[in-house]
Amino acid sequence: MKEFTVRTNSHTEFLEITDRLQEAIDESGIKEGICVAVVPHTTAGITINENADPDVVSDMIYALDKAVPWKDPHYRHGEGNTAAHVKSSIMGHSVHVLVRGGKLQFGTWQGVYLCEFDGPRSRNLWVTVIG
Ligand code: ZN
Repeated sequence: MKEFTVRTNSHTEFLEITDRLQEAIDESGIKEGICVAVVPHTTAGITINENADPDVVSDMIYALDKAVPWKDPHYRHGEGNTAAHVKSSIMGHSVHVLVRGGKLQFGTWQGVYLCEFDGPRSRNLWVTVIG
C-alpha cells in the first residue's frame, strides 16, 4: 500500500488525485488488476467524476451545499461540522478502478477526486493495487 499526504487549499474543494493512483500502479509494476484508493477521514471523501469541464466540479459542490447546508438549527454535533460528516458519507471513503495494461481504465472524461468538506488541511490517501 502506498500512502500519500494531500494538502487541500479551501474549506470545500474537489482536488483531482488521478495521478497519485497512477503513480501507485507504476510503482507496483502490476499490469492487470484493480486499484483501490481510500480516504481515511470522516469529513472528506473520494469520488470519480468528470475532469474535462471544471464547471462540473463547481456545480457538484453547489448542489451538495444546497442539499446539506453548513448551518442548521437541528444539528447536534458540538464540533459544528455536521455538514462535512454528511457529505463525507454521501461521497464515500473509497473508489476502485480497473487496471489494464498498467493504466487506469476510465471512460473518456473520468478522473478521481479527493473531496474536502472541512479544510483546508492535510489529508491521507491510501492506494493499493491488486494484480
Ligand atoms: Zn465533527
